[in-house]
Amino acid sequence: MRRPISARTRIAVVIGHPVRHSLSPVIHNAWIEAADLDAVYVAFEPAAERFDAFIEGLRGGQVIGLNVTTPFKARAFALADIPDAEAKLVQAANLLRFPEDGRIEAGSTDGRGQIAALTAAGFDLAEGPVVVLGAGGAARSIVHALRGHGVKQIRVVNRTLGSALRLVDVDPERIAAYRWTELPAAMADAAAVINATSLGMEGQASLSLDLNAAPAGALIADIVYHPLTTPLLEAARARGHRTVDGQAMLIGQAAPSFEALFGRPPPAVDVRALCEAALADPR
Ligand code: NAP
Repeated sequence: MRRPISARTRIAVVIGHPVRHSLSPVIHNAWIEAADLDAVYVAFEPAAERFDAFIEGLRGGQVIGLNVTTPFKARAFALADIPDAEAKLVQAANLLRFPEDGRIEAGSTDGRGQIAALTAAGFDLAEGPVVVLGAGGAARSIVHALRGHGVKQIRVVNRTLGSALRLVDVDPERIAAYRWTELPAAMADAAAVINATSLGMEGQASLSLDLNAAPAGALIADIVYHPLTTPLLEAARARGHRTVDGQAMLIGQAAPSFEALFGRPPPAVDVRALCEAALADPR
């Protein structure tokens, strides 16, 4: 049973705009309850122009920390005093912590979340080239994590080629940039294709991708989790591909965030089932 909330209850937060769809409170509050912590995890949705002042006001530990989501990840990174190595590589942060000394610490756990999702699905990161669609905050985090986990060839396909080329600069031997029109060539011998654009997300344009260009054995992943079964995943399943959905990454990135916020790994709870129940009954 949940502990009563008191004046001593610690507060952790997901911050974004919009954020009302976020499943992070479902995940973290289930872990908080199972670990019997005197804490609560809530959502904040400040107007974009008030974000910086809002964050400044949290220095010193008014809340333990924040998970940061769209559109604030780059600003969160810019406001931090102590970004970790991952956040520096990605130039964005999905995690801020507010120690008592008044400084702001930043981290990036999205990429680790995608690695956890791929490996949980039985994908061997040494299997072959991995295609990443997108070069935004989430895509950059995934590319660096794939690199850090020994993937030998990462092909970044992005509408704005310049953003993909900036990733190539980091490791030209292992990262290559492709134009959107070169997607079939990029996918031809791919072991996995990951959609890390916002295409396919509710309210966004749909992703038009001809899976005939991908090998039958390729794993198809989509980091979009609204809806959970995106048209890309639906098409991939119809063709018999292995698939990984965005919820697997969401839970995968939440685990290291929980550990950074509360100083212990999350307890074993079937948070996926809780997320699915929350999606089926949004209140
Ligand atoms: P972002 O930084 O805004 O990047 C968006 C990416 O999508 C860019 O590569 C952008 O290309 C591309 N894009 C947007 N509209 C496009 C269009 N019409 N045609 C082609 N490409 C287009 O966003 P983000 O933070 O990386 O998030 C991307 C998605 O991942 C969102 O749906 C977000 O909800 C989801 N996400 C999921 C998780 C999870 O845990 N499952 C975690 C983080 C994010 P350009 O560079 O050309 O603009």
